Amino acid sequence: MGPDAVLWRPEDLMLYEYDALSSVTQPQAVVFPTSTDQVVGIVKIASQAKLPVVARGAGTGLSGGAVVTEGGIVIVTSRMKKILEIDLENRRARVQPGVVNLDLSLAVSDEGYYFAPDPSSQKACTIGGNVAENAGGPHTLAYGVTTNHVLGLEAVLPSGEVIHTGGTYWDRPGYDLTGFIVGSEGTLGIVTEITVRLCRKPEAVKTLLAVYDAVVGATRSVAAITARGITPAALEMMDGFTLRAVEEATHAGYPMDSAAVLLIEVEGLREAAEENAEAVEEVCRENCAREVRRAKSAEERDLLWRGRKNAFGALGRISPSYYVQDGVIPRTRLPEMLEFIEQVGKLHQLRIGNIFHAGDGNLHPLLMFDARDKDQSQRVLKAAEAILTKCVEMGGSITGEHGVGIEKRDLMPLIFSDDDLEMMGRLKAVFNPRGDLNPGKLLPAGRMCGELRVQVSQGGEV
Ligand SMILES: Cc1cc2nc3c(=O)[nH]c(=O)nc-3n(C[C@H](O)[C@H](O)[C@H](O)COP(=O)(O)OP(=O)(O)OC[C@H]3O[C@@H](n4cnc5c(N)ncnc54)[C@H](O)[C@@H]3O)c2cc1C
Repeated sequence: MGPDAVLWRPEDLMLYEYDALSSVTQPQAVVFPTSTDQVVGIVKIASQAKLPVVARGAGTGLSGGAVVTEGGIVIVTSRMKKILEIDLENRRARVQPGVVNLDLSLAVSDEGYYFAPDPSSQKACTIGGNVAENAGGPHTLAYGVTTNHVLGLEAVLPSGEVIHTGGTYWDRPGYDLTGFIVGSEGTLGIVTEITVRLCRKPEAVKTLLAVYDAVVGATRSVAAITARGITPAALEMMDGFTLRAVEEATHAGYPMDSAAVLLIEVEGLREAAEENAEAVEEVCRENCAREVRRAKSAEERDLLWRGRKNAFGALGRISPSYYVQDGVIPRTRLPEMLEFIEQVGKLHQLRIGNIFHAGDGNLHPLLMFDARDKDQSQRVLKAAEAILTKCVEMGGSITGEHGVGIEKRDLMPLIFSDDDLEMMGRLKAVFNPRGDLNPGKLLPAGRMCGELRVQVSQGGEV
């Protein structure tokens, strides 16, 4: 691969000790392949040297997926960034995994198309990372998550075998291996090519900002909008604490004195979008919105979204550290959940901001703390666990889109039975029998019975 494609000095490796969750351990080497063949070569060398392998896109993952837990080789896909094919007639594209999410939409924008999954990190994160995490975003409510936009994959298995799953159209016969690999967090194979669906841009988009003096009005509006039979393309909520931090950083035009705002987008044919925007406005006012504004131009729309999409960064300005949680609840229980989060904040003496993909009940409580203070750090972890446990009690889940990684693997038993986890472990072992691809992620420690059995039978170390 050449000397410029490998990092091995400790000071260079330090940059790959962490992702957007936290820092763990240093890898032995970081490599930057440009092709599938090179990935095969690296995986074979790693296997001979009995070194774990971890794939990494942009390292924006929030659950510690792209860091090594026991040393090994990190394969970074940032040089695998070619858009290999754009086929607008069939509305699809074939890309290498290191293509940045937004770059694909920009490449087809002039022709009136885009790639629908739009994580707030879309300016940086890669499509390979989106596939591995089954990433969502503000527009998940109407368009679904990454898996709904992936038609086929090429992946390199730890053995060095290259497999092709799915294809160029929906509904292929046989097992849905594409669906199995999407969301597998780099534990089954290294994705080296992705065929995605492209969407046609809507004829009209209406972006509304509903402003509330009490949070409860905003949470009630969320349920009321969908109860009215309207599915907005996006339905986002920020509480007063968060929006003030965002406004100070981005000057997006959010009212500093409000208790909460909803950012709502409806789209479609011009008349339908207008009708839905009017209906949404009415529902928000019925639920105590003091004001409902509409973006009057593309610039105003961009500004409102810039505020929302840069929210995490804005909070970094007001707190030395913050912990972004990612849970899911039925959207009808948002008012109750917000009250619970407030109580948790009081109990653990923490400031907690709230930013939600409210339409699909995907919460992102932001817990402010100072990582240098051990006691605060412990309180943050306890508070986060209480919030996630409550999500499960309410019939939700421990993650909506940020994945399990190392962060939540020990919480998996909250939503899966021993039998469920055992089956997942066995399925993983078919692809990754020695467990050397992204070890220590996704499945709780000691639950990967299938993997352990295979290791024993192959005489490997357990
Ligand atoms: C400010 C901010 C906002 C965010 N907003 C959202 C959001 O709205 N929605 C959302 O879903 N997420 C969001 N995220 C989380 C993150 O951006 C996504 O999970 C994203 O998909 C990760 O992409 P990445 O390229 O950075 O992957 P990385 O962090 O590098 O890796 C993530 C996981 O994917 C695996 N992986 C990477 N490439 C491959 C490959 N080629 N083959 C196999 N496995 C691979 C890694 O091993 C790891 O397990 C946000 C993060 C930040 C920092």
